[in-house]
Amino acid sequence: MDTLPPKDMPPAAEGSGCHGGRETMEAAARAAGKSETMDRLAKDYPRGPHDQPQSMCPAFGSLRVGLRMRRVATILSGSACCVYGLTFTSHFYGARRTVGYVPFNSETLVTGKLFEDIRDAVHEMAKPEDYDAVIITNLCVPTASGVPLELLPKVINGVRIIGIDVPGFGVPTHAEAKDVLSGAMLRFARLEAEAGPVARPRNMVEGQRTIALVGELFPADPMGIGAMLAPMGLSLAPQTPAREWRDLYAALDAVAVAAVHPFYTASIREFRAAGRPVVGSGPVGVEGTAAWMDAIAKAADVPAAMLDAAKARLLPAIKGAMAAAPIKARITVSGYEGSELLVARLLSEAGAEVPYVGTACPRTEWSDADREWLEARGTHVQYRASLEQDVHAMLDAKPDLALGTTPLVQKAKELGIPALYFTNMVSARPLFGPAGAGSMAGIVAAQTGGRERFARMVSFFDGVGTPDGAGYGFKDKPQDPPGFRERQRKLRAAKAKAEEAVGT
Ligand code: SF4
Repeated sequence: MDTLPPKDMPPAAEGSGCHGGRETMEAAARAAGKSETMDRLAKDYPRGPHDQPQSMCPAFGSLRVGLRMRRVATILSGSACCVYGLTFTSHFYGARRTVGYVPFNSETLVTGKLFEDIRDAVHEMAKPEDYDAVIITNLCVPTASGVPLELLPKVINGVRIIGIDVPGFGVPTHAEAKDVLSGAMLRFARLEAEAGPVARPRNMVEGQRTIALVGELFPADPMGIGAMLAPMGLSLAPQTPAREWRDLYAALDAVAVAAVHPFYTASIREFRAAGRPVVGSGPVGVEGTAAWMDAIAKAADVPAAMLDAAKARLLPAIKGAMAAAPIKARITVSGYEGSELLVARLLSEAGAEVPYVGTACPRTEWSDADREWLEARGTHVQYRASLEQDVHAMLDAKPDLALGTTPLVQKAKELGIPALYFTNMVSARPLFGPAGAGSMAGIVAAQTGGRERFARMVSFFDGVGTPDGAGYGFKDKPQDPPGFRERQRKLRAAKAKAEEAVGT
């Protein structure tokens, strides 16, 4: 970090953030008046075995949700290096939108000028001809320093101002950061709708009974789910995370909510406050789809005859698709997207042996049905899984295919185990209904068929580029400069000691 609070601030930020010192940062945030925020984050997103994110900065999740919305402006307040990384990643993923930035230095942070700068920035951005809402996000240092976004005006010129704290020391994964923003916006929209008339949602059909999906899904999946709901007299409300402000009203107006991704705790709190029943799990495979349709019918008061007719139409098609694309392989699944249990369930129903599922997300009641189904078939389900647990499970299970995050896939390939990147390959395919039933078999067969090729590659490259191994152009193992490692060890030890002293 290049800008840090001065020495007389709470000891929060110095040398901390995602590089360590979570307790110190959290203590500083509490001392600076953020206890309520920290308590709510701890309750919504309980920690697990790993305390700090092992993937990207969590704030990327909320940033992306905001950047994907029409007529919504996004401003970050945090250290320049954090903002650089976040904007770089958002543009890498095709944001094509400007990200606002309110920088700070020791003086503006300690004198409260940073808050004034933020207030000026939101006033400047709040142009009703351009925006419905402006989102301002406190990253680690401003959160730890207690920058009070809740004191900003709620509305400027008719533009809503949404301030959120998304510190890496309070929100464990970028998946849950999506919920921080989604929940804040749903809350705002719910209170607006309760207070009086609101803008009419686009494509709203009077009298249509809808189901609101929660989770970022592969684009074909909502259409497939819509086709499942139609024979039950239901249609789809706009998804959460929403794509524009008035979608929030339409989602809140649904007769029931399907928490397909099970980690949207704050969002679901708002749906419940609006009186909407919430259904967990998702329509995967034959058994999963049947159970999900039963639960939706119950939540939305669908007559039994309609439900039976819908199931009679849909389930044979899924059964047929699964029979035509059986999976015969031992597969481990790990990821941080929240759909890991559903993917494992689909693979298992298609015939795969799935000894392990690890998810970076926490255990919630909305994945209970999937967890119980998987555990009854001998699958170990690990919530808040660390990379170490995922790698250990893969080494232990010796799968034909490992689905996982980038570092896990890298490790698998080093060992000659076929592996697929969850986000790019698995999440980029339909998961639900008949389309989902057949989608995985092809890639599983293609990858497991390459096992022998992997083994040949491993033996060919044996020892090349491995830790301490010589790279291209070296004949021998490079020698460390004399004393280098020892000096580095001492420096690390001194830094750890200094941080310990700051924390006490
Ligand atoms: S905002 Fe993100 S990148 Fe910056 S210190 Fe916090 S967790 Fe790390």
